[in-house]
Amino acid sequence: MISEEQKNKLRRRLAGFLIEEEPLALKTAFKIGGAAAFYLQPESLEELELALRTLAELELQFFTLGGGCNILVADAGVRDQVVIGLGKGFGDLEIVGADSWSVMLRAECGVSLSHMVKLSEVEGCGGLEKLAGIPGTVGGALAMNAGAYGVTIYDCLAALQVMEKKGLVWRSSSHFKPLYRDGGLAPGQVIVAAYFLLGRRDSGAITTAIAEVKELRRQRLPRGAHAGSVFKNPVGDFAGRLLEESGCKGMRCGGAYVSEEHANVIVADKGSRADEVMALMKNMQARVRDRYGVNLEPEIKIYS
Ligand SMILES: Cc1cc2nc3c(=O)[nH]c(=O)nc-3n(C[C@H](O)[C@H](O)[C@H](O)COP(=O)(O)OP(=O)(O)OC[C@H]3O[C@@H](n4cnc5c(N)ncnc54)[C@H](O)[C@@H]3O)c2cc1C
Repeated sequence: MISEEQKNKLRRRLAGFLIEEEPLALKTAFKIGGAAAFYLQPESLEELELALRTLAELELQFFTLGGGCNILVADAGVRDQVVIGLGKGFGDLEIVGADSWSVMLRAECGVSLSHMVKLSEVEGCGGLEKLAGIPGTVGGALAMNAGAYGVTIYDCLAALQVMEKKGLVWRSSSHFKPLYRDGGLAPGQVIVAAYFLLGRRDSGAITTAIAEVKELRRQRLPRGAHAGSVFKNPVGDFAGRLLEESGCKGMRCGGAYVSEEHANVIVADKGSRADEVMALMKNMQARVRDRYGVNLEPEIKIYS
């Protein structure tokens, strides 16, 4: 719970970029869930630094919202922690250096991953092709160590700029120990910008590779409001296979149902509730546990 004293201090110190009761549903891929009691939208590094210092002093938890593509917000909204949404001030994408062999690209956390992939295609630099079609921001992709078809975003990462309560710090890619769908950030760290070192590649070959990846994704993923894979793959297996063979396809709870195309995807119909998605997740986990003795771990992040 955020106490009245903490609320008043937040209002006094962060007035310029604090919004109360900001609806979150339309900021997420599921398009459901309640509002953030306290939503911060810093537009500069100075505001972000002030926000993190203040939250640390007040001993308040927070999470950073990127494109909301991997997030489920509870129906009652986010009441016990503060949400930080990084706005227009964090959307720069540029080539900062290039030679005949390589290109160094700088992307701020709010840049959409697909814009970065597009720029790499236009400029003829390879490495990001298999990430084509993954929705969300560069910050979210790094926090989640997003990836597909054997490649993750950390594979091309050279360095990161991270805001912590003590200020802005530089970190080389080797500083982090990314795991499967976990970028290895410590609580309280916000990714501000990232540098990617990409190799020169023929633009035509990149275009072809991207088109192939997008076509594969189009065939595998359903339409409708969803957040991609709900559960992580257990070591040596696929959550989708376990769920499918446990008979989960088509299972429904209210307006939320397991896709017929992909057993590891929950689609939320218009008007459905986050509670229904969570109940369905529990049922899916129970079926796989009963049949295979495997505990599926959620990939999506649930916030309340
Ligand atoms: C249709 C669809 C397909 C998908 N396919 C894939 C796929 O193939 N592979 C894959 O890996 N994922 C996939 N996803 C999941 C999702 O796209 C990725 O996890 C994506 O990288 C999330 O980025 P985001 O900006 O939306 O992050 P959000 O969902 O907003 O946040 C995800 C996590 O990252 C944290 N975060 C966000 N920004 C920052 C920041 N700047 N600093 C610190 N932490 C931050 C958040 O606090 C949260 O914990 C898919 C999702 C959808 C909807």
